Amino acid sequence: MLESLLRTGGAFRPVLARETKLTEASISRILSELRKERVVEEVRRSAPYVGGPTALITLSKNVAVAGIELSNNRLSVGVGDLTGTLDYVDRMPVSGQLGQDEFEHLFQESVAAMQEWTDQRGLILSQAAVAIPGYGRGAAGNPIFPWDMPRLTRFIDEIFGDVPVAVTNAVVAQAAFHRYSRTGIYPVASDHLFLFVGHGVAGVIVDETTPVDAFSAFELGHMVIERGGLACRCGHRGCVEAYTSLRAISKIIGVPDSDILSKGDSFIDMLDLGAGMREALRERLLLLGLGLGNALNLHPLSSVVISGWPSLMPSEDRLAILDGLNESLLGGYDASRLALSFIAPSIGNDPRAALYYAAYCFVRSGGLDPRTDPQTALEEIA
Ligand SMILES: [Zn+2]
Repeated sequence: MLESLLRTGGAFRPVLARETKLTEASISRILSELRKERVVEEVRRSAPYVGGPTALITLSKNVAVAGIELSNNRLSVGVGDLTGTLDYVDRMPVSGQLGQDEFEHLFQESVAAMQEWTDQRGLILSQAAVAIPGYGRGAAGNPIFPWDMPRLTRFIDEIFGDVPVAVTNAVVAQAAFHRYSRTGIYPVASDHLFLFVGHGVAGVIVDETTPVDAFSAFELGHMVIERGGLACRCGHRGCVEAYTSLRAISKIIGVPDSDILSKGDSFIDMLDLGAGMREALRERLLLLGLGLGNALNLHPLSSVVISGWPSLMPSEDRLAILDGLNESLLGGYDASRLALSFIAPSIGNDPRAALYYAAYCFVRSGGLDPRTDPQTALEEIA
């Protein structure tokens, strides 16, 4: 029920009953419990039809969650509510070759500053989430930040004390952002691959029937497409990321990463891209399509949603992705078998994605204070 409220932003009781397949009596019982915990609110609204319901149920704005993201060469810490409003943001620059000791030091400082802010306001965090690129590769470790992951989760757990905290891959948090932020119309309602092209290039298979945290992230960016090609930060040469990441294209357009960030989502609109530059970017889009087609050969899906700088390119330039797909996808590219859509990226909006992931983790835990049940808190951390 809470997940449905997070996704829709609010609903009337009959709609909630339909969505959750619960009786209205059960809905009422659960709602009164959640209202007592101050997790949901009922707002008087004029009924959409005669004799219809008048109370719109929404998530409470009084629940505080924290989102922390390591992305865009910075560590961003934010505190906000379940609707994605950020009330506190702190961003610290970090180097691309961030070591674990350095990260832990910075993390500790940033979280201490955040806690000072929440303490001053008497806010108690209900949930925190940390999004890290490359996280969650199991025994293989993290290809982007080759750290001791059990040590990292222990460290984060200790820092947060009794606040439940979830650590996830950055692209899973991005998927949560697009599912729950409702910043635009999400183009796909069925299972699809969500591909994010930013500082890294990562995908996540979004299965509409499973929880967001079950989405398996994969590092498409480290697929080698050019033997002996451009050097990649992972230590290999010729990776998709070395050609298509923000850093890779910043060299083409002559704008440093940091400036791309300060220009936000409209960075390409603001550049006067000459014919040569556009041609070079089209070549990079073709390589992206090549990598994407190879990925789809391993895991066929009929729909792909791309977010990141390619979404900001003119639509005629984006056709280069189809050329790349045509060269690698089994049977070639066919619009009737593969739907490709683009959504605007949230470049520079960190830590919003982590904040939405925290909101998701909070509602999934049932919305009741997990500190009353230590087992739930442990599961969140695991
Ligand atoms: Zn690589």
